[in-house]
Amino acid sequence: MPSMPQRTMPVHARRLIRSMLAAAVVAAGLFALPPALAQQDGRPATPRELHERRQEAQEIQRRAKEAFSERDFERAERLFRRQAELDTAGFVPRYNLAVTLASLGRPDEGAEMLAEAIGRGFLDRRQLEGDPSLGAIRETELYAEIVENWDRIIEAHAEGVEQHLRRKYRPGYTVKRDDDLRIIIASAFHPIATEQAVEEMRRLADWGVREIFTDLAEDDNDPFVAVVLPTERDFAIWAMERYGPQAVAGEFQRIGGAYSNDEKKLVSMDIGSTFRHEFFHVLHWRSNDRLGQRHPVWIQEGLCSLVEDIDEGPGGTITPTPSWRTNILKRRLSAAGLPTIAELANMPRQHFTGRAPLANYAHARAIFLYLHERGELGAFYADYIDRYDEDRSGVASIERVLDADIEQIDRDFKNWLRTLPDVAEVRDGRIRGLQASIGVEVDPGEGEGPVVGRSVSRQARNAGLRPRDVIVSIDGSPTRDLSEFVRRLGDYHPGRRISLGVRRRDEMMELPVVLSPAR
Ligand SMILES: [Zn+2]
Repeated sequence: MPSMPQRTMPVHARRLIRSMLAAAVVAAGLFALPPALAQQDGRPATPRELHERRQEAQEIQRRAKEAFSERDFERAERLFRRQAELDTAGFVPRYNLAVTLASLGRPDEGAEMLAEAIGRGFLDRRQLEGDPSLGAIRETELYAEIVENWDRIIEAHAEGVEQHLRRKYRPGYTVKRDDDLRIIIASAFHPIATEQAVEEMRRLADWGVREIFTDLAEDDNDPFVAVVLPTERDFAIWAMERYGPQAVAGEFQRIGGAYSNDEKKLVSMDIGSTFRHEFFHVLHWRSNDRLGQRHPVWIQEGLCSLVEDIDEGPGGTITPTPSWRTNILKRRLSAAGLPTIAELANMPRQHFTGRAPLANYAHARAIFLYLHERGELGAFYADYIDRYDEDRSGVASIERVLDADIEQIDRDFKNWLRTLPDVAEVRDGRIRGLQASIGVEVDPGEGEGPVVGRSVSRQARNAGLRPRDVIVSIDGSPTRDLSEFVRRLGDYHPGRRISLGVRRRDEMMELPVVLSPAR
């Protein structure tokens, strides 16, 4: 059907459009609000204060939910309003307030609050249309406008995010919108590193949608996601606001990145394994949101850890490989033993991420590596989302695609695990398991890839290496962070001549390097 020229639009539709426009404009205005409005005594709040405020808001939310579940809606309203004052940018208190107002028999106020929640990034259409607790709000005119206007709201959000990123991150950042990936990237990294990150997302998205998230193959106007590759300083500020002082304390335990689906924001301090992990969360959450499902933590973290360590083949093929995570799991298996797959699959989130998180991540990843090696990864996901209501743990789907009971699969899985090679890795700040060396010290760098250290041997200098060179590949295979560099170098013996891909400021080069024995 040809699109209808505006002039001939029926009068009532035009009136509706005008008021819809108003809603969309309001939404755009709200989307453009900076997140840290928070000021105290006229001065900007410090990251630590923002973190404390976040925690206080969480505590109030806990009490508000309690009041709500006791059906004390007046008290719940007061508490959610207090939470909304502390959390000026968040949609959660506003959405909950809308629900509370609906319960208090004030649907028009509830609808306005719902619009405020949308203006702050509540963009889950399935929940909007499916949540029974919105009640009479669905009878309001404003609600009808919101639903009819959904595509405009998504667009207003994207524009708001872009404006916000341009305002918040400057100078030294580039901000770019990508309509295929449905992301807006703000990067403080070198343009070449930024381009590598975008290509990586494209490759992961192509492969992920082809092999796993086939439900994403059709375009469905998913909300845009902000992808931030920050300076070290901005990263520290972000981590402090979000996680508090412990996030930036220990050098080896610090957080490398995160994706928040509520905020539609990915932050990563590298373009390697952390970045891939977090970007896969973006795809997985898109799938979850479209399906109206919430997959358990082992599936979330297992799938996203799977793409941390990969080999790339022709035609966009991606092969997840053994890694430092399988090393951890093998050590764990021979020392303390492992929980069963069924135990892991039924582990509550707090337990999964609280007790022995590294082992649990490694375990979940290895299960998906096992499924992938058997060619059943896509089949598992398809079966799982199909029968989500029957078995949310995923155990039944593993049994179906591998055609055995879970006890047998558990035994086979452990035997397979024992056969995996030990992978060269960085552990406790030291490089382990390498036989060969490129003859220079290599530093983790600042997120754009591993970096040649300050002192360069004569042999390496003759090969063309210089201090601060960023190592981008070995024999054409990308080395986007130190751990990837070490894993790839682990496949080589001394005496081999390799081609080392290097970026020196704006220049890309391939240097032939003869490997020496590792000390
Ligand atoms: Zn994760």
